[in-house]
Amino acid sequence: MVFNEKIVNPTELRHWEGKIELYWVYTSGSAGDEFFKALKKGKFIAAKCKECGKVYFPPRIYCEYDFSETEYVNISGEGTVRAFTVARLDKDEKPLEKPEIYAIIDLDGTDGCIVHLLNAKPEDVYVGMRVKPVLKAKNKREGRITDILYYKPS
Ligand SMILES: [Zn+2]
Repeated sequence: MVFNEKIVNPTELRHWEGKIELYWVYTSGSAGDEFFKALKKGKFIAAKCKECGKVYFPPRIYCEYDFSETEYVNISGEGTVRAFTVARLDKDEKPLEKPEIYAIIDLDGTDGCIVHLLNAKPEDVYVGMRVKPVLKAKNKREGRITDILYYKPS
C-alpha cells in the first residue's frame, strides 16, 4: 500500500505501525535544470521577464505577475546578506566544532535570493555584508546546489 492510495470505503481506513510509506519525485523544472547546468559550468543564471523586467532567482520560465515569458540572463552569483543565523549545536543538540552561519543572500541583478552556508566568523557577519560564492573544483561539480561549497565575504 502506498500513501496516495485512494480510500473509497471508510471501513478500509487504517493506521500504520512504524514508518509511514511515502513516495515522491521532486524535479527542479526546466528553468531549474538550466540553472544547474550553468552552475556545473561555474556560471549563475536568473530569468528576466520580457514584459515587466522582474529578474527571477531561482529562474522561472514565466513571470508570476504578468504570465509573460522570461529569458535567461547571466548573473555574478555575488550578493548581499539580508539575514543570517548562527548554529552552534548540531541536530542532536551537541556543540559544533565550529559555528555554522546560514544566510539569506540577495543576489546582485535579481529580485531573488539564495539561502546558503556562509564561511566567516560569526562576530564579523552583518546584514548588508557583501559576499561571493565559492564553488567546488570544476571536475568535482555535479550540477547540484552543493556545487556551491559556501559563500564568503568579498
Ligand atoms: Zn513580468
